[in-house]
Amino acid sequence: MCDYLGSHFSEDMEINQKLKEEIIHYLHDRGADIVGVALPKTWWQEGVVPESYRPDSLWPPTRSVIVIGIQMPLPIVETTPSTQHMELYRTCNSMLDNMAFELTLWLNRRGHASIFLSRDGYANIEVLIKKPAAAFSHNFAAQYAGLGNVGVNHTILTRQFGPRVRFVSVFTEAELIPDQMLKKRLCIRCGACVDCCPVNAFNISKDELLTDREVVVADYDKLACAKRHKLLRDKGCYPCGICIKVCPVGEDRKLYGRENALRHYRDEVESIARGPDDPLYKSWIHIRSHGGWPIDQETTLEHISEDQSEKAKKEG
Ligand code: SF4
Ligand code: SF4
Repeated sequence: MCDYLGSHFSEDMEINQKLKEEIIHYLHDRGADIVGVALPKTWWQEGVVPESYRPDSLWPPTRSVIVIGIQMPLPIVETTPSTQHMELYRTCNSMLDNMAFELTLWLNRRGHASIFLSRDGYANIEVLIKKPAAAFSHNFAAQYAGLGNVGVNHTILTRQFGPRVRFVSVFTEAELIPDQMLKKRLCIRCGACVDCCPVNAFNISKDELLTDREVVVADYDKLACAKRHKLLRDKGCYPCGICIKVCPVGEDRKLYGRENALRHYRDEVESIARGPDDPLYKSWIHIRSHGGWPIDQETTLEHISEDQSEKAKKEG
């Protein structure tokens, strides 16, 4: 009797593992960088996400959550706030939604009822200011699916891309083998995200950063961050993402030769305020000056205009 049950159990495991491999293969072929699987029970075991935001509360047949991540290439993230960064963000989002929708249909057609919840999903910043939450957090899903863990800046840091990655989730009634959550924290608690945030949205002391590992994330002023986003949205260079740009975690830095860029980021505001000709920032300024321009850099814009009209006078 026991042997009979045991052989069925291992057969099921094999089928589930095979389906998971097919799903991963399918997603990688469509452009996913990282894929992980979490079980709904993890939300209950961890007990952090409010009950109504958990996968099987949102859709009771859910037996597995498939989380898909794609990278945001660092050199464009570094130009933030810029219209190019905004377009990259939008492209990543629509690619994720397309992948999640295609996977949902692919699973449905194989008899595994599935749904997906788009990333973000809060309509607009005004709504987010009033109610700073989406119906489902893909960040917790990514963490529970073993793709990364939370940094001081409240984003999910991954080994491959640090926080420069976006996620979407597919809920399915297929039972898949889950991935293990990462044991080691990836955040090195350098404090760069805290120091570089233009609206000081993070509050954590140096002592807490250096010695108190119990304090996993900084206090986060969501409203200040959302208001900053409203301003950038109005200027056409949304989202902010400076705390994502400056984070030193991620193998993507190696690819782009940007392992030691912290000084570059820390000096940015002062150097740009001094003038647009600093070779270290020239290409960022060029990109930012085409498309939207954030209000708090209008002085620099004026400086550029003056500079250009001076040149024009000399030339002509
Ligand atoms: S996104 Fe920008 S405003 Fe919001 S916390 Fe990060 S750095 Fe601060
Ligand atoms: S910038 Fe530093 S403190 Fe902030 S999340 Fe990244 S590693 Fe952690």
